[in-house]
Amino acid sequence: MNQPLYVQGAWFIGAVLFIFGLKGMGSPGTARRGIVWAGVGMVVAVLATLFVPHLKNLGLMAGALALGTALAWVSGKRVKMTDMPQMVAIYNGMGGGAAAAIAAIEFARGQAHGPATTGLAVLGALIGAVSFTGSCIAFAKLQGLMKKSVRLPGQNVANVVLTLAAFALGIALVILAPGRPELVLGFFAVALVLGVVVTLPIGGADMPVVISLFNAFTGLAVGFEGYVLGNPALIIAGIVVGAAGTLLTQLMAKAMNRPLANILFTPIASGEAGAAIEGSLKEAGPVDVAAMMRYAAKVIVVPGYGMAVAHAQHKVWEMAVLLEEAGVEVKFAIHPVAGRMPGHMNVLLAEAGVPYDKIFDLDEINGEFPQADVALVIGANDVVNPVARSDKSSPIYGMPILNADQAQNVVVVKRGKGTGYSGVDNALFYKDNCRLLYGDAQPAIAEVIQQLKALG
Ligand code: NDP
Repeated sequence: MNQPLYVQGAWFIGAVLFIFGLKGMGSPGTARRGIVWAGVGMVVAVLATLFVPHLKNLGLMAGALALGTALAWVSGKRVKMTDMPQMVAIYNGMGGGAAAAIAAIEFARGQAHGPATTGLAVLGALIGAVSFTGSCIAFAKLQGLMKKSVRLPGQNVANVVLTLAAFALGIALVILAPGRPELVLGFFAVALVLGVVVTLPIGGADMPVVISLFNAFTGLAVGFEGYVLGNPALIIAGIVVGAAGTLLTQLMAKAMNRPLANILFTPIASGEAGAAIEGSLKEAGPVDVAAMMRYAAKVIVVPGYGMAVAHAQHKVWEMAVLLEEAGVEVKFAIHPVAGRMPGHMNVLLAEAGVPYDKIFDLDEINGEFPQADVALVIGANDVVNPVARSDKSSPIYGMPILNADQAQNVVVVKRGKGTGYSGVDNALFYKDNCRLLYGDAQPAIAEVIQQLKALG
């Protein structure tokens, strides 16, 4: 469908803004700008669509736009940082669902497309529908609405049978041409059920990776439907999202040392313990911790999920500034999957005002732990668990970790004996050089700050 030049031009500008936006999101320093650019790109693309000649149902469209904008505005303002993964899941699901809905309407209208275009519409619909229901299940799990992972008897057989059935119905749609309601309905029913069945058995720890995978799926689905509709902005946005989602999925799977096939088909079984750990837990008070760091030459801070839950990032930075004023070198070490989403810690530290040149990735900082007098682990657990290096029977064996245990002294701030997300006990806490400062991270660090001030 050929659109007037002004519409095509505006779509093109929107697409260019998506690409520059994504580029900006590649670094914490430019991420905010990147998000604004991508958002402006979306506004341009949507507005341009409203200027397509002979458009019908403008009232309905305006209503849908107003409703969507209001919901997104309110939920975006209200969402807590720790609830971000489920928010991404549900928004992502909506994108997949929208792509599937576009295809459904094209089929229902019996729109005459060639077999190649219909084939792409079918593929987009399949991927979009799976992403929609899969993301809804991911949302329900992360929001705590669904507590258990359900594994069907013959789960993998069910996955294969449903996938084959969806493809068979999809091929029938292409060959027999769309417009046959029973085929269209059967195809969508199977595709939607497939998304549910594939996602149900996947555990919470693996969920962010699955969300990222569905994100890639949504991108692909949108790209395919963009081709069907002849809309270049949708095609480019879809390709950009699809490629970024695929890369992110790979990065996360690598950082957790869990091949994607394992994540999808053999989830971590809760209760897998690994070898017994030797040593004892040794407590330290805020006075000891403050003194240990005040008279250190180098302190490496390792933040994790607990820092996010406690909203302790501002206190942590306040403490780091005091230490630096006392002549202590302070660095922040970030594990790629610390927290509950990629970049979680970077965002929090940036929000607290920690300069980017004090924040180091795993590869950059791991060699420095032996020279650190103190590694201060704040609400992190799995990402510093040395069993990942040594215990082949552990479910997290092979996951790259921050070598906090190699520092001269380690202080771990946590509330009690809680395990990390994987549920595996942490050998670091029992080591001779490790002390535990018990408490919610925010008040615990506040007390350390008081003691640092007292030390002068
Ligand atoms: P973990 O989930 O391993 O550990 C968090 C620790 O914080 C717990 O030991 C808990 O102990 C402590 N904690 C919780 N609340 C508080 C609080 N208010 N104050 C102080 N401490 C607190 O976190 P990590 O960041 O080390 O590891 C992330 C995990 O999430 C990894 O297993 C990773 O694979 C997984 N994951 C991460 C993804 C990502 O993209 N970032 C994606 C998928 C999975 P206690 O209860 O005793 O306080």
